[in-house]
Amino acid sequence: MQAFSYHNPSSVADAVAKSSADARFLAGGQSLLPSMKLGLAAPEALIDLNGLADLRQIKQEGDEIVIGAMATHAAVAASDAVAKAIPGLAYLAGHIGDRQVRNRGTIGGSLANNDPAACYPAAVLGLGATVVTNKRSIAGDDFFKGFYETALDAGEMITSVRFPIPKRSAYEKFRQPASRFSIVGVFVAQAKDGVRVAVTGAGPVVFRAKDIEAALAKDWSNTAAAAVKVSEAGLNSDLHGSAAYRAALIPVLAGRAVARA
Ligand SMILES: Cc1cc2nc3c(=O)[nH]c(=O)nc-3n(C[C@H](O)[C@H](O)[C@H](O)COP(=O)(O)OP(=O)(O)OC[C@H]3O[C@@H](n4cnc5c(N)ncnc54)[C@H](O)[C@@H]3O)c2cc1C
Repeated sequence: MQAFSYHNPSSVADAVAKSSADARFLAGGQSLLPSMKLGLAAPEALIDLNGLADLRQIKQEGDEIVIGAMATHAAVAASDAVAKAIPGLAYLAGHIGDRQVRNRGTIGGSLANNDPAACYPAAVLGLGATVVTNKRSIAGDDFFKGFYETALDAGEMITSVRFPIPKRSAYEKFRQPASRFSIVGVFVAQAKDGVRVAVTGAGPVVFRAKDIEAALAKDWSNTAAAAVKVSEAGLNSDLHGSAAYRAALIPVLAGRAVARA
């Protein structure tokens, strides 16, 4: 690991003031620190967000659940507000990784990292959430740009995520048994603006399954979701599963998610 300087800011403004294109924010460190150890990331400075207690808040504001960027997966899974308003989101957070990962990993770190197999991107896209940063609000539909790529500018910090409360929602994943990342994960929601179905793990970046959304808009049932044929074009093929296998999993998991919702 290459030498770096370490900052322990006392506020969001202080953290942002210390950021630069060569610095990285440190949240749970679950992705960043292994990347640094492997030499895949070599920031000149780490800006540790762990002292910013305000960023850990989870609360309901009107018809939205607002989750601070530094809320851990364990905190989201254990939140009464989340469990009552969006049980599908509490379930998702409670099924990320293992206990150690859930106790360190944060929603802000997960979204900024945008691992193609991560779970939270499916909830952000599937619920039509908004990612709030130190300088703007970014619609979930515009946030995930590509493989490990987001709409965040260099030095821009996620401060919270606003999730509109849906009528019903659920998440189902077929997990990689060692890491528990999604080989395929599907989030379904009946929201104010209609049905949304978001798929993670299957492609280079999370995406909406429009054919399944259309089928569910006509008939909200597990059989309607499971009957949709999904093309394997553009899907991931790796040692965990072929593109055809992932394509077959998407409607199956969507159907299970509808049944759970
Ligand atoms: C063994 C293992 C299993 C896992 N299993 C799963 C799984 O099943 N599902 C799943 O979804 N995830 C899984 N993860 C990922 C994990 O849950 C973390 O969410 C993820 O590693 C990143 O979150 P973090 O808080 O640790 O971020 P960090 O590693 O600290 O940071 C990641 C990146 O985000 C940036 N960043 C951090 N916070 C902010 C912010 N507020 N604003 C802007 N940029 C920021 C950092 O600079 C860095 O580039 C797993 C990880 C491990 C190690």
